[in-house]
Amino acid sequence: MSNAEHAAILQQKIAQRIARAGSIDTAEFMAMTMGDKQHGYYANAEPFGQKGDFITAPEISQLFGEIIALWVIAAWQALGCPAAFVLCEAGPGRGTLSDDMLRSLAKAAPACARAANMVLMETSPALRRRQQEKLAKHDRPLTWVEDCAALGTYIKGRLSQAPLIFIANELLDVLPVRQYQKSAQGWHERRIKADKTGRLHFVPGRPQILPLLPPDTAFARACRAAKPGAIIEISPARQAFVQALSRLLAANRGAALLIDYGSLEHGFGDTLQAVAKHRFAAVFENIGTSDLSSHVDFAALMAAAQAENCRAAAMPQGEFLLQMGLLERAGWLGADKDEACRRQIIADVERLAAPDQMGELFKILCIADLDTIMPPFAP
Ligand code: SAH
Repeated sequence: MSNAEHAAILQQKIAQRIARAGSIDTAEFMAMTMGDKQHGYYANAEPFGQKGDFITAPEISQLFGEIIALWVIAAWQALGCPAAFVLCEAGPGRGTLSDDMLRSLAKAAPACARAANMVLMETSPALRRRQQEKLAKHDRPLTWVEDCAALGTYIKGRLSQAPLIFIANELLDVLPVRQYQKSAQGWHERRIKADKTGRLHFVPGRPQILPLLPPDTAFARACRAAKPGAIIEISPARQAFVQALSRLLAANRGAALLIDYGSLEHGFGDTLQAVAKHRFAAVFENIGTSDLSSHVDFAALMAAAQAENCRAAAMPQGEFLLQMGLLERAGWLGADKDEACRRQIIADVERLAAPDQMGELFKILCIADLDTIMPPFAP
């Protein structure tokens, strides 16, 4: 079946769902377009890399996975160099980050590489196959799980009480988000309806109290004072994900790195975006063939982790990579290369870490159990 045929079926499914329910929220729209097991974006599209719709940090340069490997070694040491631990990458895409990370671990810290039980958390069957092909060369057992609950079951069953080291790059931004808009009557959820021709558009839901927003915070006060037209985004799915992950970390010990674009503070604004072939597209066009995502509210996720008895801290990606030795590693990598290759390495470093590229927009959230102090996030 072609991508266009998958997209047509997906649009029909969404139209039928709207006809039955009257309207759907943005979270359901995202979940359907991205996550549908047969026809969703990740089930069929070839999203990553130069030829795909967007390019992610591990696809830019092997340096990214190598630096993450250094962090994994630091986490393993902070946990007391356990003889067995679970190393999980969630949302691994083509498997590039795990590939670079496993290669670097084997070279830089063989004992850590041997102790690692590799688990991939992935919902897309097509991408699971891609990951399996890519990682076969490491010649080690690999386990796939669907979600944090399944990861918990795996740890309990196979490696009772083994600590967990967890990585996810650009996973949170695809988890569904709900949007709310202020009017003179108060806050309304932004809901989605179809017109007679099937075209989708936003309509305001009934006025309501904003969910998941502790009332006594500065941001809750800013929401009460906001002018009509203001929009905020709340993601129960992201908060539930971080909550489940934090519970695993608190129960088994461990540390997690969640890397994504977004803000360290709560904010206003509509950040839902569609990207196809490296360009922004209209959110309601190209359903199922463009990547839908939104900015991550890291402040909300830090609060969710802390509420589950974990440490949480975040910093911009550029700062993290530089503190972890990106420039030194790039120097080594370029040492025996020709001029063109060295220029490419410099360009890649700038793309990953420069403030006007990915360095400031992307943030790195570290969550760890209360006894594990993780560089470079240590107080
Ligand atoms: N980390 C990769 C890919 C990011 S794209 C990179 O940086 O290149 C998002 C990835 O998350 C895809 O592999 C997608 O199939 C997966 N995914 C989407 N929803 C998921 C969920 N709920 N749980 C686990 N993986 C998910």
